[in-house]
Amino acid sequence: MSQVDDIKNQVDIVDLVSETVNLRRTGKNYIGFCPFHENTRTPSFVVFPDSGTWRCFGQCAEGGDVFSYVMKRDGCDFQTALELLAKKAGVELTPYNRDDKPKEEKQHLYDLMNEAVSYFHNNLTQHPAGKPALEFLTGKRGLKPQTIEKFRLGYALPSWDGLTQHLLGKGYTRQDLIDTGVVSEQRDDKGEVIPNGRIYDRFRNRVMIPINDSRGNPIAFGARILDPNDSPKFLNSPQTVLFDKGKTLFALNEARSAIREKDQVVLVEGYMDVIVLHQEGFANTVCPMGTALTDFQAKQLTRQTKHIVLALDGDAAGYHAAVKDIDIIREASASETPGDTKNLLRQENRLNVDIRIVTIPEGLDPDEVVLENHEAWEEIIQTAKPIVIHMMETLAKGRDLDDAKTKSEIAAKIMPLIREVPNAIERETYRQQLARFLDIDESLLTYTGQTVSPGSGNKRAFPAKPRLKTTSDAMVFDPKDSFYNKENEILRCLYRYYDNPGSLAAIDRKLRKFHLEAMSPMDFNQTDLHEIASVYFRALDQDEELDTKAFIEKNIPESVQDTFFALKNKRPDNLNETLELDEEILRSVAFMRQEKCEYDKSELQSLLEGSEPGSEDMRNFETMLDRTLQRRRQLDILIDNINMIDFRNGK
Ligand SMILES: [Zn+2]
Repeated sequence: MSQVDDIKNQVDIVDLVSETVNLRRTGKNYIGFCPFHENTRTPSFVVFPDSGTWRCFGQCAEGGDVFSYVMKRDGCDFQTALELLAKKAGVELTPYNRDDKPKEEKQHLYDLMNEAVSYFHNNLTQHPAGKPALEFLTGKRGLKPQTIEKFRLGYALPSWDGLTQHLLGKGYTRQDLIDTGVVSEQRDDKGEVIPNGRIYDRFRNRVMIPINDSRGNPIAFGARILDPNDSPKFLNSPQTVLFDKGKTLFALNEARSAIREKDQVVLVEGYMDVIVLHQEGFANTVCPMGTALTDFQAKQLTRQTKHIVLALDGDAAGYHAAVKDIDIIREASASETPGDTKNLLRQENRLNVDIRIVTIPEGLDPDEVVLENHEAWEEIIQTAKPIVIHMMETLAKGRDLDDAKTKSEIAAKIMPLIREVPNAIERETYRQQLARFLDIDESLLTYTGQTVSPGSGNKRAFPAKPRLKTTSDAMVFDPKDSFYNKENEILRCLYRYYDNPGSLAAIDRKLRKFHLEAMSPMDFNQTDLHEIASVYFRALDQDEELDTKAFIEKNIPESVQDTFFALKNKRPDNLNETLELDEEILRSVAFMRQEKCEYDKSELQSLLEGSEPGSEDMRNFETMLDRTLQRRRQLDILIDNINMIDFRNGK
């Protein structure tokens, strides 16, 4: 996560705006007089806590996030706003690339990890002591030699200092070894590290599985026992400067293209499962580091696909984990504490993904299933069910569904889950399914407690974050994420397009032809992306002799360099090779504007609902709504016509 994202997550926009603007609540949003234009009659300034954005629906017709708010309010630049908000959020700003040392240091540690990977790999494939480990992998686990090569699997000798001596011999320092977690430090009776005490190999007599970051750099190890008497069965590297287990998915780098190709990712529970599944042609498989799927990981995945399948082990542990999840979700929905992150339903809602769950038949591991029969694995994945249905079936497993107590217990556990489903049609369907499943009358299943709508009965003036959306809106998404990704994608396309920037004018001509404004930094509301876009568009006004991309690189402000380099190096997600790039960009811009219109429309409608009939507020919102609908119509016409536009002829 970039520093900018960190700050956005920490700073509450309602609190921030309230420092200087008198806001009052209308539904789930807040409204007040716009601080940026002269107005005394109609409040037109709306703050959307949901998306962390603000918007003037009046004269300014502008909007943005917390950064642009501070920039406008204080008349300062992005860097200053960043510093101010970082302070507020308690986020420490670390300069990007200003001083190359941190990056070099990191590279130094990657080099060390690479050396360790090679060392373990040599032990496995060349060293006589590695033979039992090699036989275990190729025999019992069914791995092919090329799989062992591809994942660079290895073996840690049953030695206390094999790796330590090897790395020290290569010139790495004691501190380097400690920093990467490949060694343990000597501890006293109380478990405290003894300063300058002995260090020794963390992993001994284990199969070593290198864990890479999303770009393929080795950052940690997963280590599995060979001797059944050893424990624990699996040992991971500790958290280090390189390795954050909540941000890492095993084999993501290797799985990325398959995930895109199949438009689906499958999460399993073990590294060995992932490796075997990749070997057998199911390369869209990854696994988290023994924890529940974090938001960060889910977001990493949603950049490749919206379809996530969780393949849980069928053993008792997996079953209990699933049931425990229900309790977590129930607790979350019963409590008033906002911002629970660890439950799937909310993740699904917030990230706008489709999460399905499947249970592997009891007593079987995914790797066993796929080695036995390829189709069997495919069939299992195809039976994955939506979260609510999966929970229903899990709870009913082995129970007597004719028993009245069992029925009422299951209903009591499932109804709170169904209540969390944001989409009304989906919610009703689940309710009907539950009634059929339990063979009871639908009317018995009520959403008890549903009257607790977000914020009602809440004495605090400004709740920090809204609770789960329970609107019947079919289009529930997190606009913050959605627009961020879309804007980001367009910038990625544009960067590629700058090899031939002259024809950007062609895109603008099309937009104008349909009475829409030309592309500009105003299309980018996320301040960090807006900053980058501003440099992009400035680059077009430069002398033709000058290399546009060189100009961009030279002029990107330091505060957004991490964001810029990340997007510059990343291929656009949805790039359709059969389309011309300019057509692709026009299409993306049109769809994004359309979606933003849709968002404005629904926000304006809810503002209208909240305003007094016949009041000036109401008339004002109606005017704005008309304008939005008008714009929306123009965009619809443009989108209808996009396929007919012949770019090469400039028509
Ligand atoms: Zn204004």
